[in-house]
Amino acid sequence: MSRRDEAAATRRAVLRAAALLPLAAACSRVPSVPSAPPTSTEGSSTPAPAATSPARPPTGEVEHASTGRPEVALTFHGAGDLDLARQVLGTLHDRGAGVTVLAVGTWLQQYPDAVRVVTDLGHELGNHTWSHRDVDGLSEAAARTEIERCRDLIAAATGGPGAFFRPSQARHATPAVRALAAAAGYPTVLSYDVDSRDFIDPGPAAIRRAAGAATAGSVVSMHLGHPETLAALPGLLDDLTARGLRPVTASRLFG
Ligand SMILES: [Zn+2]
Repeated sequence: MSRRDEAAATRRAVLRAAALLPLAAACSRVPSVPSAPPTSTEGSSTPAPAATSPARPPTGEVEHASTGRPEVALTFHGAGDLDLARQVLGTLHDRGAGVTVLAVGTWLQQYPDAVRVVTDLGHELGNHTWSHRDVDGLSEAAARTEIERCRDLIAAATGGPGAFFRPSQARHATPAVRALAAAAGYPTVLSYDVDSRDFIDPGPAAIRRAAGAATAGSVVSMHLGHPETLAALPGLLDDLTARGLRPVTASRLFG
């Protein structure tokens, strides 16, 4: 089977799997997972719910895990210079941190090695739309194209759609975009509760401080392609370690 045939077969498999997902479930009946309790309850000895926890992340949109485990998910907008991405992801790997990269499709197209730069180091790949337009504000057809075009590229490279979808230019997905994501193979939209604001290049100390506001269960928004983010990482990882917080992939955080 040629590579092109394989890619087509993969795409067909993804579309078949996506067709089986209940479109309405993620749209109108499944609410967003609420935010974690206020900081004042952090560290309290409230017992975990007795019910067996699901093995998979919940459907809908998530921004903070309530497992009670001392873990955080550093999540990255995947775009920008590939050598810089390599340094960021290598630094994280060397420090034992797994992260989730929500890749922009045009970035994966521009840098065919980008998928492997992420996955070879054990990091996790997700979908951050094809071209990073304001996906919540697009027509349904255009939003679907933004989601599916990126998904198809990820699927051709990895055999699956990737772990999560994150909307572009928006912290939260509209119900309509959540439904489109679910239909495309992403039952869970990954939002975040901590914004490092590294995309405005405020200096490594400010990034370290903002990202360091993470608490157990937090999802932190960060960006590849910004040198100050790389500079902030060693201190940020020191801070998280000092507080007993372990950086893990979003799948692990919510799993
Ligand atoms: Zn982004």
